[in-house]
Amino acid sequence: MRFADLVDLFERISATTKRLEIRALLAEHLRGVSESDIAPMVYLLQGQLRPEYEGVELGLADSLARRAIAQATGTPEETVRARASRSGDLGTTAEELLRDRTPPPADRGLTLSDVYQELTSIARSSGEGSQEAKVERLSKLLGRATAVEAKYLTRFTLGKLRLGVKDMTLLDALAEVYGGGEPKQARPTIENAFNVTSDLGEVASTLARQGTLEALRSLRAQVGKPIRPMLGEREATLKDVLERMEGQAALEYKYDGLRLQAHVPRDETEPVLLFSRRLENVSSQFPEIVRDLPKALKVRPAIVEGECVPVDPTTGELRPFQEISRRRGRKYDLERFEEEVPVRFLLFDLLLEGEEQALMLPYPERRARLERDVKAGDRVGLATRAMVEDVPAAQRFFDQALADGCEGVMAKSLAPGSTYRAGARGFWWIKYKREYTHELADTIDTVVVGAFWGRGKRAGRYGALLVSVFDPKEETFPTLCKVGTGFDDSSLERFTNELRSKQVKDRPEEVVSTLTPDVWIDPSTVLELRGAELTLSPIHRAALGRVREGYGLALRFPRFTGRVRDDKSPEQATTTDEVVHLYETQVRRAESESSSEGSEIEKAASGAKNPHDTS
Ligand code: AMP
Repeated sequence: MRFADLVDLFERISATTKRLEIRALLAEHLRGVSESDIAPMVYLLQGQLRPEYEGVELGLADSLARRAIAQATGTPEETVRARASRSGDLGTTAEELLRDRTPPPADRGLTLSDVYQELTSIARSSGEGSQEAKVERLSKLLGRATAVEAKYLTRFTLGKLRLGVKDMTLLDALAEVYGGGEPKQARPTIENAFNVTSDLGEVASTLARQGTLEALRSLRAQVGKPIRPMLGEREATLKDVLERMEGQAALEYKYDGLRLQAHVPRDETEPVLLFSRRLENVSSQFPEIVRDLPKALKVRPAIVEGECVPVDPTTGELRPFQEISRRRGRKYDLERFEEEVPVRFLLFDLLLEGEEQALMLPYPERRARLERDVKAGDRVGLATRAMVEDVPAAQRFFDQALADGCEGVMAKSLAPGSTYRAGARGFWWIKYKREYTHELADTIDTVVVGAFWGRGKRAGRYGALLVSVFDPKEETFPTLCKVGTGFDDSSLERFTNELRSKQVKDRPEEVVSTLTPDVWIDPSTVLELRGAELTLSPIHRAALGRVREGYGLALRFPRFTGRVRDDKSPEQATTTDEVVHLYETQVRRAESESSSEGSEIEKAASGAKNPHDTS
C-alpha cells in the first residue's frame, strides 16, 4: 500500500466529524488491504505504532521535530519555529515548507511499510546519541515525503495525529468489510475478539488473513495481552440489586484499591505481568506481587484479576486507598515504598486457567476454580464473599464490608450466562456503595441525656432529644447530637411521659455536654439512630480530641429508627471507639472517591473533614 493512499484517507477523515462518514471511508479503504499492511494501517489510524498496552511511544519533542523539518527542507530552525508559532501546528508548517521546495519533488513512492518501519525504528532507538539518530531518521523520511505526507508524519511523531477515529468506529468498519454482508450480526464477534486481545491490529490482520469471521475464533485470551476489563452497573438499593439478580446473588467485598490483571506465564523463568484497569503495564510498580503471586497459584499459565489494596501488615486490616496511590506511577525508591505501603492482592476472577479459557465459564464455576487454584496467604488472598437470597442478609454483608474498610459490595450474577464479559458493562456485576444509601453504614445506639421542649405543634411535649454515646474509659456519656426527626407524635408523647420520671434538675455527672437542654435526663434509655455521616464538631463531645484537637464527633442528619433498644443498658450503647472507627471508614471512602472521581465528591470528603456544627 502506498503511504499516499493512507494519507488521502487521513485527509478525508479530517474533513468530517460525522461518525457514519468516517466509518464508510474506513470501510472503503480497508477493503482489499493486504494481510501485512492492515495492522500497521489500523495502528496508524489509532495514532499508535503498536497496541496501546505495549506503551510504544514516539512522542518526539517539538524541538527535535523542528530540527528534522529544518534539515529536510534546508530552512533555518528559527524560521521553522517562527512559522510554527504562527500556524500553531508544526505539521502544517512542515507541509508549507515542503510545498515551497523548488522544484517540487516527484512522489518518491513511500510505502506504508517503509513509513511504518522507519517510525518503529525512531520509537525504538534509545540511549546515548539516540536523539540525534531520531532527528536524522525523521529528516530523511520527511525528505522523501510529499508535502501532505509530511504534515501527517510530523503530527504523528509528535503524538498529535488526532484524527478522531474511535476504536468502536474501526470495529464497525471491520464488520462492514468482513461481516459477509451482515455487519450488525458480525459486530459483536469482532468486538469480542478486540476485548479479549485489546489489539485492533491483530483483529484486523486475522480477518484479512482468512477473510471470514470464523478466523476470529483463533483469538483467545493469552498471557501477555491484557483483556479489557469487565465492568459493573449500579443499583440504588440492595433490594433492586437482588431483584436484578433474580433473588439470588454472590456478594463480594468491593475493595478500594487498584484493579490489577495479572498474567502468569507458563515458563517460570518468564516474569509475571501486571496490567492496570487502563491496560497499562504496571508490573514494575508492584515487585512483591510479581514475586509472590506465582507462589500462591497452583496453575500456570494463568490470568487472574483482583484488587491490590494497602494493608496494615501487623493486623491485616485495610488501609485508606490514597496510600496506594503513593505507589502509582513510581519509578524510583520502589523498595522503600514496598515496605512503607504494604499491599495485598485480593483476587476476584480467573480468566485463563492453564490452557483453558476460563473467561468463557459462568461466574460460579470461575470462582470455584479460583478457590481451588489459590493458596491464600499474606500477600495474595481471595475477595471475601457470601451467597445471599434476601435483603437482610445482603444488608448484613454490606455493613460488614463497610466495617472492614471496603467501599461497598459487588454483586455477581450466578446465571448460566454469567461469563466474563470482557470490555462490557452490564448487570452481571452490580456495584452497590454506601453513597447511594445516603446513610452511615451502621446504626448508632445512643443514650438519651436531655430534652428540649417542642414548639408549635409539639408544644407541651419534647421536640428534640439530646443523646450521647458511651465512653468506656472515662465511664461518661459525651453528647453526639440533637435528634428530633423520626418520631411520630404519639411516640413523642410517650417519650415525654416515660422520660419525665427520669428528669433530673442538674446535669448528671457522667454526662459530658457543652449544650444545656431544657431538661436533663438520667442516662438510661437507649435509642437506635441512623444518620448521613459523622462530622467533626466544636459542640459535641463524643470522642473529643480523638480526631482533631478541641473537636468531638457528631452525627449529621440524625434520625430515630423507631427502635428503643431496651435490650441494652446505657453502657452497652455505641462506644466512642466505635464512633471513631465509623468516622475513619467514612473518611477513607470519601478520600478515595475524591482522588478517583473529582470535584463533586471532594465536597463530601471535605465536609467530612471540616468542623461542622450539627447541634
Ligand atoms: P467502579 O470503579 O466504582 O466502577 O467499580 C468497579 C471496580 O471495583 C472494579 O474495576 C474493581 O477495581 C473494583 N472492585 C473491588 N472489589 C471488586 C470485586 N470483588 N469484584 C469486582 N470488582 C471489584
